[in-house]
Amino acid sequence: MQQLSTAATPPSAETHDRAPDSVALTVTTAPRSWAFENAITGVPHWVTCMQGCDLVHDADMSRPTDPTDIYCRVDPEDSSLTIPVDFNTGVPEASRILSTWIGVEPFARDIARQLPHAMVEVIDEHYIGPLDPDLLAVLIDGLARRVEALRRTHAQLCAARAEYVTRSGGAA
Ligand SMILES: [Zn+2]
Repeated sequence: MQQLSTAATPPSAETHDRAPDSVALTVTTAPRSWAFENAITGVPHWVTCMQGCDLVHDADMSRPTDPTDIYCRVDPEDSSLTIPVDFNTGVPEASRILSTWIGVEPFARDIARQLPHAMVEVIDEHYIGPLDPDLLAVLIDGLARRVEALRRTHAQLCAARAEYVTRSGGAA
């Protein structure tokens, strides 16, 4: 029987190491400021990290960088849910679902990314976002309705199996 499991490792930021001591959004330390050289114009830019950003940014600072590649990120939850999913291959694959993080891309062309926004990984490397607070609330409400539907399905399944056992004369 396959088990649902929680993984302690969140999806990592692809090109950044994490600071040794991750901080949560609730930490009130002042955001860090740092500078990088614009790879396109050669002009230096200052960046003030999003509150709670736990990326090191060494790679951004150590060489000229395209501003659109600059981002800050914080993972409010340090765990994700991994479940076996069959992608019509007949062989279930361990798939991470509903990982979330908050990011900001200060030089993005898309204004929705210039502000702190949420990203939700629906399933391995398939995302919803950028989500502003209202859109994230809509998503949460929709998922909550699905969870309630799952609870109803669970109750119906328990009843159906109990009736089946009774009908079969008690053989489980
Ligand atoms: Zn940052």
